[in-house]
Amino acid sequence: MKVMSLEILEKSDTKLVFVVDGISIEMVNAIRRIIISEIPVMAIDEVIILKNDSPLYDEIIAHRLGLIPLTTDLDVYKLPRDCECGGYGCPLCQVSLTCEVTNTSNTTMEIYSANLSSNDPKIVPVNPNIPLVKIDKNDKVIIEAYAVLGLAKDHVKYQAVSNIFYRFYPEIEFDSTKCTKCPDKCLVSRMCPEKLYDFSNKKTPILIEDYWKKCTLCNFCQNECPEKAIKVRWKENTYIFSIESDGVLSFEAIIKKTFEIFLEKIDEFIENLGEIEIES
Ligand SMILES: [Zn+2]
Repeated sequence: MKVMSLEILEKSDTKLVFVVDGISIEMVNAIRRIIISEIPVMAIDEVIILKNDSPLYDEIIAHRLGLIPLTTDLDVYKLPRDCECGGYGCPLCQVSLTCEVTNTSNTTMEIYSANLSSNDPKIVPVNPNIPLVKIDKNDKVIIEAYAVLGLAKDHVKYQAVSNIFYRFYPEIEFDSTKCTKCPDKCLVSRMCPEKLYDFSNKKTPILIEDYWKKCTLCNFCQNECPEKAIKVRWKENTYIFSIESDGVLSFEAIIKKTFEIFLEKIDEFIENLGEIEIES
């Protein structure tokens, strides 16, 4: 059996790109689907507006609050439906965030996500500079909001990642000996959208070393090369996986939770399979 291998190409707080080898497309797609819709994430779900002098309706402010990405701690909090309180709201499933601002200046004032103060310092807006609403001088806004864990399959505000996709790992076979007879001054090197062929020496084009990072498998080179010197394929069971996050969870926490959910699903499948009577 082939062992799965993984190589990280790029990693920052907001982006993770890696090559995964030895995994079927069904598995890689199941992982993508779990990450996009089943990782629990904190978001504001209930808002009590005590005072709103701003020009925006209460509903619009509540909607804007719901879309503020909040840092999430999966070790402490539970989904309300799994909590011992029965989803009523307790310190294990709910965080309170309040915002009380009075404009004492002589000009209009902008209220930002930084003005939300949380009762848990671990659950705060990921970015303090998200504009919420503007208020005029002497105006006031008092809001009480409650954040809970939720799943993106129920509402998109609970999505743990901003973007996630995988693509096939390109493999190009390039026989440059065929180029000597070519009447064209390398059409492919001029036209390749990703500039994968270097023809700066004006003798023979060279396929750049890390072509696989950029190649989008458009097959232009294979189809248009007059000498048929290029063959484009993709490597079986190897994928380039890319995840972008707004920072609600670390990538480590996302991957760990993904496999916890994956294993739970397999257990559930086996359990349900045992209950099915198969006619022979
Ligand atoms: Zn609870």
